[in-house]
Amino acid sequence: MNNYKLIIAGKAVEGAQTLDVIDPSTGLVFATAPRASKAQLDEAVAAAKSAFPSWSKTPLADRQKVLLAIAGTLKANAQELAQLLTREQGKPIAETTGEILGSAGLFGYFSTRNLPVSVLEDSDERRVEAHRQPLGVIATIIPWNVPLVLLTTKLAPALLAGNTVVIKPAPSTPLTTLRFAELIKDLLPPGVINVIVDSNDLGAELTSHPDVRKIAFTGSTATGKRVLASAAGTVKRVTMELGGNDAAIVLADVDPKAIAPQLFKAAFQNAGQICMAIKRLYVHADVYDDIAKELSKLADAAVVGSGLQPGTEIGPLQNRMQYEKVRELIEEARLQGRIVAGGTYPDGGGYFIRPTIVRDITDGTRLVDEEQFGPVLPLIKFNDPQEAVSAANASLYGLGASVWSSDIDSAYALANQLEAGTVWVNKHFEIAPNIPYGGAKQSGVGTELGEHSLDEYTQLKVINIAKRTSA
Ligand code: NAD
Repeated sequence: MNNYKLIIAGKAVEGAQTLDVIDPSTGLVFATAPRASKAQLDEAVAAAKSAFPSWSKTPLADRQKVLLAIAGTLKANAQELAQLLTREQGKPIAETTGEILGSAGLFGYFSTRNLPVSVLEDSDERRVEAHRQPLGVIATIIPWNVPLVLLTTKLAPALLAGNTVVIKPAPSTPLTTLRFAELIKDLLPPGVINVIVDSNDLGAELTSHPDVRKIAFTGSTATGKRVLASAAGTVKRVTMELGGNDAAIVLADVDPKAIAPQLFKAAFQNAGQICMAIKRLYVHADVYDDIAKELSKLADAAVVGSGLQPGTEIGPLQNRMQYEKVRELIEEARLQGRIVAGGTYPDGGGYFIRPTIVRDITDGTRLVDEEQFGPVLPLIKFNDPQEAVSAANASLYGLGASVWSSDIDSAYALANQLEAGTVWVNKHFEIAPNIPYGGAKQSGVGTELGEHSLDEYTQLKVINIAKRTSA
């Protein structure tokens, strides 16, 4: 068993305490992680603070090279990291391999970005330049559903821009992050990256820490509100990627058989534990029965099991709390709609739920109105597409949404009316290094990925030079 260590000031160190890590496919402890004390958190922030002056002045070309080297390390160790991620997170090896290689791709993309000075005015009167300055110590706080990609979306632009970082993974998925940091620590000067692990008790210490300049947070909207309140005391910058309840609207002119596999994947990948998974499916009455039938067939055929087993398509829920929450929502929905696939919980100790399709359910039920974050999809019938748009928008969330139709113009017109950070047409949940994403409404503040995300890790600094000096 690997002896996992915290990374503080370039050193691998024991935690003040330890933390059990559970394999969600068995419900049993399979590893021990180091758990940091408040004093170790302070050491990590102090290390990041003292590494900042030199890292921020390191030429951009050298920082770009480091990012490229990190991408190479991820690729070279993809198999080991994917195995570990599946063990602690639960999803199938194909998905975790995609996550590791996707993270390498993100580092590769950011290694090609620049931070040019833009000249806003160069007249007889003045020369005005806009510079991008790094912020200082960034705290990244990560959830358990996609631990490495959600870290990379923050770490790569933060490092490129010359910031130093303290990373806090979720307590139930700390190992891949610790191993990744161990693999890359010598590519960076000591203190540029630091990793601490907590038991849901150190987040607030980071968000209120006087030496942390910015919080890059992904997690639930409820925790996000606490983070915002805590960051206010020291006026920290924030990027907040929060919860979602993505609606997909299926119009009458689709071919149900053709689109069902894509809808299914967008709803059930990672057992539905994706912020931008389809969580509410609004289907036109003309194709409602056919869509329900096709999705049910796919759900019945899906292979549910340990992510390490070849052929598994859907792994367990990541943790007991989430498993119990999703079961509760399914049992409530059983009384409000009709379960036409799944609705069962395979035995064996792991947190398994068969992919569940609930039809004849309406808005106003918890399964439709709340973020289920699990393998259960409600199908809501509509007659008028405007009804579906109003229902989709009647949510405090606004992360993603999609419209499905063989008529792109009609789909585009509806896409324009949807209140979300991203609206897809004839697909759902596609992210790429160069495409920014962020939440509307209570799904977040700020942007990740793409050029825009560099704004989140830099301070705009204007230098305004007089061309004439008065006599
Ligand atoms: P969570 O909010 O419970 O935890 C997220 C992180 O916050 C963890 O590291 C946790 O330890 C930490 N935390 C807990 N209390 C804290 C506090 N008071 N101060 C600071 N940090 C604290 O979320 P989760 O259950 O781990 O993740 C699932 C949620 O994340 C879902 O709502 C999902 O939609 C959301 N999510 C959003 C995106 C996005 O890009 N918008 C992506 C993935 C997940």
